[in-house]
Amino acid sequence: MKAEIIAVGTELLLGDILNTNAQFLAKELAFLGIEVYYQTVVGDNPKRLEDTIFHAFSRADLVITTGGLGPTEDDLTKETAAKYFGENLVLDEKALSQIQVFFDRIDREMTANNTKQAYVPENNGVVLYNANGTAPGIILEKNEKIMVMLPGPPKEVVPMFENQVKPYLAKKQEYTFISRILRVASVGESAMEMLVKDLIDAQTNPTIAPYAKDGEALLRITAKAKNEEEANRLIDPVAQALKERLGKSVYAEGETNMETEVAKLLVAQNKTIAVAESCTGGEISSQLVRYPGISQVLLEGCVTYSNESKIKRLKVLQETLEKFGAVSKETALEMAKGVAETAGADIGIATTGIAGPDGGTKDKPVGLVYMGLYYNGTVETREFHFAGSRNKIRERATFQALDWLRRKLQYEK
Ligand code: ATP
Ligand code: MG
Repeated sequence: MKAEIIAVGTELLLGDILNTNAQFLAKELAFLGIEVYYQTVVGDNPKRLEDTIFHAFSRADLVITTGGLGPTEDDLTKETAAKYFGENLVLDEKALSQIQVFFDRIDREMTANNTKQAYVPENNGVVLYNANGTAPGIILEKNEKIMVMLPGPPKEVVPMFENQVKPYLAKKQEYTFISRILRVASVGESAMEMLVKDLIDAQTNPTIAPYAKDGEALLRITAKAKNEEEANRLIDPVAQALKERLGKSVYAEGETNMETEVAKLLVAQNKTIAVAESCTGGEISSQLVRYPGISQVLLEGCVTYSNESKIKRLKVLQETLEKFGAVSKETALEMAKGVAETAGADIGIATTGIAGPDGGTKDKPVGLVYMGLYYNGTVETREFHFAGSRNKIRERATFQALDWLRRKLQYEK
């Protein structure tokens, strides 16, 4: 299969933005074994866009475009493609409702011209619904010609290509592509990338791609192989090398999450736990409770928000609160120990912090969170500084608390 990449947008011609989509797509296509003979950049001009697309199909089987799927008059990629393939564009209700949902999520009014983005080819098309923006992408295939139309913003292009286009194109190739994901905790995406950069650069098959998702750093190892067995043979040593490099930070492989892994460890080791939460407000308990079977080990979760409650429920000393404040390592320590002892649990975990947006001071800024962990009869505290909105801070604190416990359970039995 011979391919061409067309990036649409006057901004690109003017040098206002760099054509990173072409770079991304070129790499991905090379990996799929699809040869790219030409790359073009064309402005938002109907005549020149039409010429470019028609010309590209005179010499390629596959044309991939990015950009020009927007709501305005000068966004014409789809219309031009429909003309080349002789297709009508019709309204797709699902795309329309997804656009509506997207606008609701970012709390903006949807304008009438956004409806234009929900028009898709009546026949021979595959709609690529867009979870990260408004314009759906489209694959049009007819008479052995394939056109893949992607939106402009890279944060929409990358997941759409990875999740929807790549599997579509891979099916047409003789190789299969098999991925394995390593989940990495408590190392940011860029720090993680630095740690394994030489390994990433040295690899061609499998490839290693770092990315971030819902606050976690992930490494996707993808092998190109004739079958799954061969793919796993290629992936195994690379996964091993990455794990050695990242050590205890790699907390799991595949589709799972932190709370599941922690809950599994607790149940497998039959260690009981009690949770005392101030700033996380029940989030740690709530996440653990998602795991069926947690009742075997989770004794109680307390949301001890006020000083009185910390005293009454957890036996935190009045003097400690007066002398060091509710947000302090001393309080976190007594909370963790107190909740474990009063509940009769093997493990006690506690959080106390300032989630904001108000309430921060110079000494105790918003995002400051102390945690206490009572484990194997001793209690430790840690201080964290999280960035972001109130709920981001609570989410991050929850993740870190669980990761701290996970490390204890895995490495200090
Ligand atoms: P929108 O609905 O956001 O208007 P669109 O499909 O019409 O999407 P464009 O208007 O062409 O896409 O581009 C939107 C934004 O995406 C640009 O302002 C730019 O930031 C980014 N972008 C577009 N094309 C590229 C590219 N080839 N490489 C990198 N970034 C790009
Ligand atoms: Mg646009």
